[in-house]
Amino acid sequence: MARNPKHDILFEPISFGPKTMRNRFWQSAHCTGYGVEKPGTQAYFRAMKAEGGWAAICTEACSIHPEADEYPWDLARLWDEGDVINLGKMCDEVHKHGTLAGVQLTYNGLHSPGLESREIPRAPTSLPSNVFSDRNVYAAEASHDDIKRFIEMYCLAAERAVRAGFDYVEVSGGDSCLPMQFLETRYNHRTDKYGGSLENRSRFYIELMTALKQRVGDEVAVTTRFETDTINGDHRIQHHEDGLGFVELMAKEGVVDLWALKIGDYEEWGEDAGSSRFRKTNWMRPFVKDVKAIVGKDIPVVSNGRFTSPDDMVEAINSGQCDIIGAARPSIADPFLPNKISEGRTDEIRECIGCNMCVSRMQQQALLYCTQNATAGEEYRRSWHPEKFDKVKEPSEILVVGAGPAGMECAIVMAKRGHNVHLREADSELGGHWKDVARFPRCSEYGRVITYRQTQLNMLKNVEVHLGVGKMSADDVLEYGADKVVIATGAHWSTQGMGAESHRTIPGADASKPNVLTPEQIMAGKKIPGKKVVVLDGDGHFTGISMAELAVDLGKEVTLITNHADIVQFTQFTMEMANNKRMMNEKGIKHRVNYWADSYEDNQLNLFYTYRDTSDLFDLGDDKWGRKMSDTTEPMECDALIIVTSRVSNDSLYRELVERKSEWEEEDIEGIYQTGDCYVPRHLMNAIWDGHRMGREIDSPHPQYPLPYIRERQIWGHETYPKLGDERPKVEVD
Ligand code: SF4
Repeated sequence: MARNPKHDILFEPISFGPKTMRNRFWQSAHCTGYGVEKPGTQAYFRAMKAEGGWAAICTEACSIHPEADEYPWDLARLWDEGDVINLGKMCDEVHKHGTLAGVQLTYNGLHSPGLESREIPRAPTSLPSNVFSDRNVYAAEASHDDIKRFIEMYCLAAERAVRAGFDYVEVSGGDSCLPMQFLETRYNHRTDKYGGSLENRSRFYIELMTALKQRVGDEVAVTTRFETDTINGDHRIQHHEDGLGFVELMAKEGVVDLWALKIGDYEEWGEDAGSSRFRKTNWMRPFVKDVKAIVGKDIPVVSNGRFTSPDDMVEAINSGQCDIIGAARPSIADPFLPNKISEGRTDEIRECIGCNMCVSRMQQQALLYCTQNATAGEEYRRSWHPEKFDKVKEPSEILVVGAGPAGMECAIVMAKRGHNVHLREADSELGGHWKDVARFPRCSEYGRVITYRQTQLNMLKNVEVHLGVGKMSADDVLEYGADKVVIATGAHWSTQGMGAESHRTIPGADASKPNVLTPEQIMAGKKIPGKKVVVLDGDGHFTGISMAELAVDLGKEVTLITNHADIVQFTQFTMEMANNKRMMNEKGIKHRVNYWADSYEDNQLNLFYTYRDTSDLFDLGDDKWGRKMSDTTEPMECDALIIVTSRVSNDSLYRELVERKSEWEEEDIEGIYQTGDCYVPRHLMNAIWDGHRMGREIDSPHPQYPLPYIRERQIWGHETYPKLGDERPKVEVD
């Protein structure tokens, strides 16, 4: 198909410094956990986006020196020539597609825990880190010699970047890193020429950019990613004061080839990676829209905003907000987003849903994966391509029972591989339990999980989709005539209060009663009786808080109770926790943490403190030792109890089929497998991945068990592995 002419501006080349981008799609620096320790994963993950049309691809934050050690967060590093080799592979692969490769040079000052290197970070002022306030992380105050040394560290890292093959070096001026620590009065208490006035606080950042421009500016572009507003009120950076004031000062120096913009700070970088539950497309516009007018027409500006619609992108450029569309999450969810726009296939874009599960991986010091794009991070180690599939020589007839996210994903992948797929769903619509989730308060963008797959299914001629067929029995499955069967019947919330706290059901918490409710029942229309409502949340992600918000919006008095140490605890990883708490505070949702339910009867919930037993161990008599156990409970008035305690697989069909395994051969069935929540209930990201993997590996010897993947790690004794007593690297900075 031809591109819609109104999107042509997105494909106009644009120059910055000595480099030219082939279009306006810029993959902003974003963390992956691949760093330099997994160079193959890093290279092929980034290169997939280059193949998909992104014209500039940046690493994650890249530490410039062992002083800037963020371990166990696996950032990129440019500490030595080994890092040059490993990141050089990324540059080579990205360049094959005519895309520019960038590296984001980072020194986090007082937010560098140094857990690997044990080197002491320095900062404008010796202060404890507020990001790691519970980890005893401090920085030393930088002398004037130290400040010169900082600049030399950046310059040496930039020279390594040039040797690796990068086309631009981006100085991170976000996430409260060193340049921002000089700029912000919160961190900079100096009284010398680097502290006090805005001019003085800007001095380090300007000296740094000037030095980089002089050292490497002829070979590569020198850019910065600057946070214009920390969203913390008037004691921090505000765009209309120090934010734009700094841009004016820096712009006069003419040492920045391109400005990429962001907001927020390190402590709450979820304001930059705003989740769809709290921030809609282009939410940053009010904070960044005035930069372009300051820096002038010849210096490009990049603006992010979780853009997935080309019309929104065009509007951002035509309005003067920016010249280039920056994206992290949309590029993860669909590496081929630019090409799909270019080819007029916008309905095939796999839109990011803003769930921030990718972010959650970074926050757990894990590897980046994506809810929508099961192939993210699997390009190298499993050779998965998001748009290409190994074709089978002999198609099988495959029955998939259940058209939730995992069943749909599995059916799509198997059909793209050439199998004939029969997708049967009891309900009259696609989506399984995710249909309900997309109707939770704030969760409407989650519906893209279904609509994307619905479009794909509509395009595939070799998938029959049968909706509203009712629940299939074991007889139905066995007699269907399929060669292989995948059971994807999902999971449900426990109707008896089973949860991780006790691994027992809760007496009286029985969802067959009118005043005990599960999320599914509420979304199906079961009324929440009375005034005082308790949400018992053992899940800690978005479901419990969604039920609390739904109930409070109905005029109920709501208390959220959790056994976790904090409310909505998983959302610390998706960077939504702070805004969840703000919302609860605004709406008057009360909470208690470290409590769980002992029983529920006659509108009285009996709670217990999860640490009610003694800390000391005692001789309990009869040769027994242990804690003195308590059975103390606290009564709480509760008209209705919403139980979000744990999920239970809908696996009865699969179990019955396993019991009748002897009949499979008679019916010419090669195998019956489980996928998604029906196998084990986990986050949607994992259910979709499981369905995808099953689809890719349905022809393997045992599809229920994943095939091995390539592990990247150093091998002891290999010729490249350092030996005891080897000479240590030379000091590069005096
Ligand atoms: Fe978007 Fe969620 Fe994928 Fe992250 S994990 S890129 S937020 S769909």
